[in-house]
Amino acid sequence: MIIRLLFFVALIAAIVFALFWWIGHSFQKKVKSMFPSAPKPPEVEKLIQCAVCQTFIPKSKAVKKKDDYYCCEEHANLTKY
Ligand SMILES: [Zn+2]
Repeated sequence: MIIRLLFFVALIAAIVFALFWWIGHSFQKKVKSMFPSAPKPPEVEKLIQCAVCQTFIPKSKAVKKKDDYYCCEEHANLTKY
């Protein structure tokens, strides 16, 4: 008798768990469809080091001269080739 009761409780628990999982899953889908162009996490830009002051700067903002990168035009002009 008690085993039947335990089995019944386990079955109910499994059904409740499945229900919650399904609700969570469909809710996630709904949220995703509501925001089709959800903002993607910003791409981490590669950081490079200034050859003069060793400051790390995003590659797009760096000043390139020959094979080296610099944080600003001033530092780029400090090095003479
Ligand atoms: Zn610099």
